[in-house]
Amino acid sequence: LASREFHPASSIIDVDGVKIGGGNIVVMAGPCAVESREQLFESAKIVKAAGAQFLRGGAYKPRTSPYSFQGLEDEGLRYLAEARDLTGLKIVTEVTEVEAVETVSRYADMLQVGARNMQNFRLLKEVGRGSKPILLKRGLAATLDEWLNAAEYIMSEGNQNVVLCERGIRTYETYTRNTLDMSAIAAVKHLSHLPIIVDPSHGTGKWRMVKPMAYAAIAAGADGIMVEVHPNPAKALSDGPQSLTPENYNEVMNGVFKLAKFM
Ligand code: PEP
Ligand code: MN
Repeated sequence: LASREFHPASSIIDVDGVKIGGGNIVVMAGPCAVESREQLFESAKIVKAAGAQFLRGGAYKPRTSPYSFQGLEDEGLRYLAEARDLTGLKIVTEVTEVEAVETVSRYADMLQVGARNMQNFRLLKEVGRGSKPILLKRGLAATLDEWLNAAEYIMSEGNQNVVLCERGIRTYETYTRNTLDMSAIAAVKHLSHLPIIVDPSHGTGKWRMVKPMAYAAIAAGADGIMVEVHPNPAKALSDGPQSLTPENYNEVMNGVFKLAKFM
């Protein structure tokens, strides 16, 4: 179902009126985690003003350490829904477990399956039985075949609305948080009809590298980007080092939309 062989035309995924794929460049931006009402609303205003279509923000956070901030959970979901009402932005947020799919689906416009859950097959099947569009991130050490099979798990349950997100993979390089696999864009475009976006924030772990990698993604044919932006990255409860300041975010957005005109 995910393969281009049996579905030659590129798919356009409609997220409540916002189209992903088919030549549109979509931008999903926002903080790593929803930290408070104020932090989220301030982020939403910044994100909206620069022309993004989606507000991102984790309410359920899959953290490496159990002692790190784990997210506001349902309270965070309510703030996200309020931010949508306030700005008209679509909401994309992560669902980390089968039990939370129903609740997250009530608040979000698009469900994110994170890198750490890319092969959580029960979760993939559960979101596949729903109708909310899915943003499926590439696993930390997943081959393209494993990633596309994860999409297949979702689609085989009925939900055809899947967007892929390249977010870097684990290699021997330690300077960057992950190695952003730009070649995945061209490979996925050949192998699959599904749209693909790129997350240069998690892909590099460094805010200085977000701009060049965002530009590279658009130039390589990605259907959009996901970036982390925080009103005050130094105070962020998660992923501060890779989060853009509002000023840097505006600069990246200007460049992305200029580039998009040539694509
Ligand atoms: C995220 O987007 O908040 C996130 C945790 O990303 P990933 O699953 O790619 O690590
Ligand atoms: Mn993050």
